[in-house]
Amino acid sequence: MNIPMVDLRGQYQSLKEEIRRQLDSVLEGSQFVLGPQGEALEQEIAAYCGVRHAIGVASGTDALHLALRAAGIGPGDEVITTPFTFIATAEAIAYVGAKAVFVDIDPQTFNICVDAVAAAVGPRTRAVLPVHLFGQPADLAPLKQICDRHGLRLIEDCAQSFGAVYQGRMTGAWGDAGCFSFFPSKNLGCYGDGGMIVTNDDHLAAEIRMLRNHGSRERYYHAAIGYNSRLDDMQAAILRVKLKHIDDYNRARRRNAALYSELLQAAPVLTPVEDGKGCHVFHQYTLRAPRRADLQKTLSAAGIASAIYYPVPLHRQEVFAADCAGLSLPVAEQAAAEVLSLPMYPELTAEQIRLVCRTIADAAAR
Ligand SMILES: *Cc1c(COP(=O)(O)O)cnc(C)c1O
Repeated sequence: MNIPMVDLRGQYQSLKEEIRRQLDSVLEGSQFVLGPQGEALEQEIAAYCGVRHAIGVASGTDALHLALRAAGIGPGDEVITTPFTFIATAEAIAYVGAKAVFVDIDPQTFNICVDAVAAAVGPRTRAVLPVHLFGQPADLAPLKQICDRHGLRLIEDCAQSFGAVYQGRMTGAWGDAGCFSFFPSKNLGCYGDGGMIVTNDDHLAAEIRMLRNHGSRERYYHAAIGYNSRLDDMQAAILRVKLKHIDDYNRARRRNAALYSELLQAAPVLTPVEDGKGCHVFHQYTLRAPRRADLQKTLSAAGIASAIYYPVPLHRQEVFAADCAGLSLPVAEQAAAEVLSLPMYPELTAEQIRLVCRTIADAAAR
């Protein structure tokens, strides 16, 4: 039995008829960009997240970029963020000409450390950009307090946290803007690239709508140098089908995670810790494995996929070497050396999870 990290084909089989029907209606209607499907999806996601506005864009990376630009962040500004994330988080900061200030993470949740954020606020700080890593909400209440106290923007990277709730409110709805990715492997994924920004700020929403469409508020009148960054109607139609199932999908992920953690109790690995402040949607199920290379080899020999998210923290990446010379963030560095993510998707069966856990126990016994 081969067990992949994600099984998009399996999910498609169960949604096939409805997706084909929806795609057919887009093809027949032939409004492919900024059409009715995109608009309907924006309304549905705004309602789902409990916010006033949702704006579709071309990717999660663009969502972050446009949110930062619309918030007026630019050259000379600093944005405090985590080094333990995908590169796009920091790329977006660089795109607007600002500087990413990396601070260390919490060893339990892998999310940005609130005390480290508070200590890093300086005269040039304009925003804090937490990531809800692996689907677990960052500690938003104290982060928001810090932002309010210092007049900073809070921009959430929700690429891995669609449907995750923190203290009764959706991730994405806490900050000035929440930025989602619909990359195929995300909890809510389309069949190409896509993203969305949610916000309660009318001004920010209008700016983002203008920027995503060539700086245009009115056709052929251009107020700013913008971008071609729209979510197309084919992807929106697919996402509308999947959105109806997202709570079931996230529940299945949580159930799978609970079974993993139960079966791995005696294994020489540390299972994920939920901090109890929100609902973790397990975009990834990520262990700490002190003998990671051996474990990964054993899993691979048994046909079981595993992955390292992320092997190099951003302050140690070549691209940030000059900016971060001498910067030491030991918690993030240790996490990068120890983490291992196991197969995780809603359709994963109990039998598959048992096989993965047995293989890990056997590896330890040897
Ligand atoms: C996937 C991801 C992004 C980027 O999303 P794209 O849609 O691939 O551009 C940004 N941040 C994090 C944490 C991600 O996991």
